[in-house]
Amino acid sequence: MRNFLVLLGPPGAGKGTQASLLCARLRVPHVSSGELFREHIRGKTDLGKHAQGYLGAGQLVPDEVTIAMIRERVSQPDCSRGALLDGFPRTPAQAEAFGKMARDLGGDVRAVVYLRVADAELIERLTGRWMCRAQGHIYHVQTHPPKKAGHCDLDGSELVQRDDDKVETVTRRLAVYHEQTAMLIDYYRNAGLLLEVDGARPEAEVAESIAAALKGRLD
Ligand SMILES: [Zn+2]
Repeated sequence: MRNFLVLLGPPGAGKGTQASLLCARLRVPHVSSGELFREHIRGKTDLGKHAQGYLGAGQLVPDEVTIAMIRERVSQPDCSRGALLDGFPRTPAQAEAFGKMARDLGGDVRAVVYLRVADAELIERLTGRWMCRAQGHIYHVQTHPPKKAGHCDLDGSELVQRDDDKVETVTRRLAVYHEQTAMLIDYYRNAGLLLEVDGARPEAEVAESIAAALKGRLD
C-alpha cells in the first residue's frame, strides 16, 4: 500500500520535471533530501542543528542523522500512499536502511527510476546557458537562443557564462556524479529494482516511458 520510489539521474537529466509529473500522477509527495535538510536547518530542529554542526565543520552528515530525517518525513500522514525520494539514498548502506524503513512502514521500495542521458547531451544542455552582463537575462543555445549570437535581445549587452556552466566545471561535476552513484546503481540493479529510462527525449515522452516501466510494480 505504501509505494516508495527513488528517482536517480545526473544533473541536467530533467529530474525536477519528471519528479513533479510522477508525483502528480501517483499522488505521492516528492521528498527531496536537499530540501529536507534546508527545512530542518531553517527550522532549527534538533536534527537540523545536528546536521548543521557537521556541515559547518565541512564534514559529511552521518548516515544516522540523514536516515532519521527521512524516516520522520516519510512517516507523516501525507506519505500514507508512499513517496518519491530524490537525493536519498546515496549509498548502498543508505539504500539498505531505506528498504528496511519502507518495510517497517508497511510498504516497500517498488522501483528506482534512473534517467539515463549520455554525458555529451548533458554537457550540451548544461553548458548552453548564457547570461547578459547588464541585467542577467538568461538565454540557452538550444531552448532560447538570442537573436544575435553573443548579445542580449533586450539590451544588447554581451552574453557571458557563469563558471558553473562552463564545460570544465560541468564535465567534472558529471564525473563526480558517476563515481558517487555507480555503487548505488549496481545495488539497485542487483536487487531487480532499477528501471532505466532514456532521458534524452522530450519531457512528455520520458514521462510516458516512466509510467510504462512502472506498470505492475505498484500496489
Ligand atoms: Zn539583457
